[in-house]
Order: sequence, then structure tokens, then C-alpha cells
Amino acid sequence: MSSTQSRNQALFERAQRTIPGGVNSPVRAFRSVGGTPRFIERAQGPYFWDADGKRYIDYIGSWGPMIVGHVHPEVLEAVQRTLVKGFSFGAPTEAEIEIAEVICKLVPSMEQVRMVSSGTEATMSALRLARGFTNRSRIVKFEGCYHGHADSLLVKAGSGLLTFGNPTSAGVPVDIAKHTTVLEYNNVAALEEAFKAFGNEIAAVIVEPVAGNMNLVKATPDFLNALRRLTNEYGSVLIFDEVMCGFRVALGGAQQLFGITPDLTCLGKVIGGGMPAAAFGGRRDIMAHLAPTGGVYQAGTLSGNPVAVAAGLKTLELIQAPGFYDRLSAQTTRLVRGLADAAREAGVPFAADSLGGMFGLYFTQHVPGSFADVTKSNIARFNAFFHKMLDAGVYFAPSAYEAGFVSSTHGDDVIDETIGAARGAFAALVA
Ligand SMILES: *Cc1c(COP(=O)(O)O)cnc(C)c1O
Repeated sequence: MSSTQSRNQALFERAQRTIPGGVNSPVRAFRSVGGTPRFIERAQGPYFWDADGKRYIDYIGSWGPMIVGHVHPEVLEAVQRTLVKGFSFGAPTEAEIEIAEVICKLVPSMEQVRMVSSGTEATMSALRLARGFTNRSRIVKFEGCYHGHADSLLVKAGSGLLTFGNPTSAGVPVDIAKHTTVLEYNNVAALEEAFKAFGNEIAAVIVEPVAGNMNLVKATPDFLNALRRLTNEYGSVLIFDEVMCGFRVALGGAQQLFGITPDLTCLGKVIGGGMPAAAFGGRRDIMAHLAPTGGVYQAGTLSGNPVAVAAGLKTLELIQAPGFYDRLSAQTTRLVRGLADAAREAGVPFAADSLGGMFGLYFTQHVPGSFADVTKSNIARFNAFFHKMLDAGVYFAPSAYEAGFVSSTHGDDVIDETIGAARGAFAALVA
């Protein structure tokens, strides 16, 4: 279909009149891959359909939440059953206790939990809590990790290793960015140096224990062990941002997989099952500092929304089915192995990695271990591959800096169709 006839194109032009850039979250605009974003009309299982009626195999799954596939009948039923009883009350409900109990059971480092509506709110609130608890201001984050768009977190490294951070977004005051120190991911020496220099000032270290916002990059066990040891030694709060990897890489998250217990954990994406729900929680003595019991203020009109909680609770029930993660991991492994084989046959330098239901595709020889490694990817090749796959009806993340996601509805046939399409796409790259 030519772009002049495309409904996606017409919608994109119309959208740009009333919505900045035509989208409500930047990566949706296809800026890094070029071309016209697809406007999605409906979804089912591993598929969604765009405004032109074209079907795609979906490997973003709303950036992680759709782990049991789109419009799972049991989640749908739970949402419908809840909806008719009211949309929002601004008063507590029993279902909020249930989801708190399930989260604390599945992620035992979370002794208490507070529900919020987005991952951004979870990380922002966890940081405020850590600062209130420690009476310190400085926070440490790592290059390439994304923790939502709160001011303190839109910061890049300064000129020297241990200098003040600089804003990465217009509108973030330098006076706020200066409290954030940005270090290299998986670099134990840099971390030790930072703690030696100003460990007593560090309120919190926040990290994605499996990074999914610079493509997929796994933390090394050495790095995570050093984080736990140093934060303990200096009385800083260790925050695992598992908004993406929580309930994705394992039922108990990356902390279960690596055997590291953080002080606070942020969750989102999967716990809403596609509805706006997120959470932060952890040590009871830290959580006690939160309003109304403590002096750290945090609130939300729609926090613990009954419809979002219903979708989340049912999703959390479904992922506890015996063997769920073994099957999800096996399907994801089948996908990345098949893609790597197809690339090798075509002679395209390519690597792929996965953990649970999360995967990374890299147009490099080796799986990356840091943001600097990820930037060595051949972006032009990725973009060409992305569009060839899109034309073939496979929707990968529209950026070389994003991870991919498989759901329990991505069966062998769906994965094999993807690999078949990739054979053609890789061959075309070197033709
Ligand atoms: C998506 C994400 C966030 C932000 O969550 P939103 O719901 O988009 O605000 C924070 N941290 C990580 C690791 C994420 O992947």
C-alpha cells in the first residue's frame, strides 16, 4: 500500500495537529527508525492490527505488560466484572490488600508496598523516600538505565567521573541534576571510587538489575554484589528498578535470579496487566517513613485503581501457573537462537540475548555489557532490518536501544514465522 493511501499516514498527519509529534510517548513516533508510526486498532494474543487492517506479530507487548498476551480471556473477564461495580472510589478496597499480599509474597524483599499509577511515579517516590529515610540528597544512577522521567533521573554524567551530573532534558534545573551522580553500568571500580569519595552523602543507588532501556544489558553478579556491599557499608538505600524486569525475567524478578536483596524495589508494567498500575516497596522500617505513618509525602487520586488492580491481580495469578517461566524462557530462547542463526546464514554481524521473556537484538559481534558497547551497534542496519520485518508483519521495538518482549501466546508457529521473515530481511541487508 502506498503511503498516500495509508490510513496510518492520514492519522499521523491529523495527530500532529493536536498532539506534540503526534504521539503521547516519544519512541512511538518512529523518529529513530524513520517512517510512519502504525496506529493500532485492536490486539489479540501475540498479534495486533493497525489502522490499515494489517496484522503484526507484536514483540513489544506494550513495552512489557502484555506477558500473557493481548486480551487474555481471564484478564478481560476480571476487568469486566470489576468495571460494573465502579471505576474509582478514592477510598480503600479489599483488592488493594490482595495485590499487596501477592506482591509481597512473590517478591519477599518487599515487606510493604504502595501502589501508584506509573513506573515514573514509583521511582520518583522511592527516591524521595530514600532521601527522607537517610536525610541525604545525593543519588547514584548508571548510564543507559532509564527510571522514568522525574527531574533527578534525566541526568547524564558530568565531564569527570565523579563530577556533578548534567541534565539530559531541557527543563531540568542544574540545581537538581547536581545531586545525581551517573556512573558506568557494570563498572565495579567506578562504583568503589564513588563510594570512597562521597559514600556518606549517598541517599540511594538506583539500578535496573537487568537493563531494558539500552537494549537488553544484564548486570554482572560482581556488579550487583558490589552494589549491595557498598550500600550496606555506607548506609545508602539500594533501589532495584524492576519496573521492566520484574515478573519478566523470573517470577521473583531479577533479585530472585541473582540472589540479591535490595532495600526498595520499583515495579510497573506487568503488575498492571496493561492497565495503569505500578508500585514501590521494600523494608518495613523504610516504608514506615511514608505518609500517613511518616514524614515523606506521597499520594495519588487513582493509586490502587480498582480496574487496574483487577487486571494486575489476574495477570499475577496467571504467571504463577507451574512452568510458566520455563515455557516463556524456552520460547524467547527459540526466537533469539533462530534470529542469530538466520543472521549467520546471511553473513550479517549480529548477536542476540534473552532472559525470561525479555530479549535483545544487537547489530554487533558481541552481546553488550554497557551503554558504550550498545552504541557500537550498526544503527543503519537495525533500521533497515526493522522496516523489512515491519513490512513482513513483525513489529519489533522501533529503536536499536530498546529490548523486546515475548508473551505466553507466542507459540512455536508464531516464533517460526518470525524467523522465516528474518531470513529474508537479513538476506536483503547484504544483497
Ligand atoms: C518503563 C520504565 C519506567 C517508567 O515507567 P512508566 O510507567 O513508563 O512511567 C521506569 N523504569 C524502568 C526500568 C522502565 O522500564
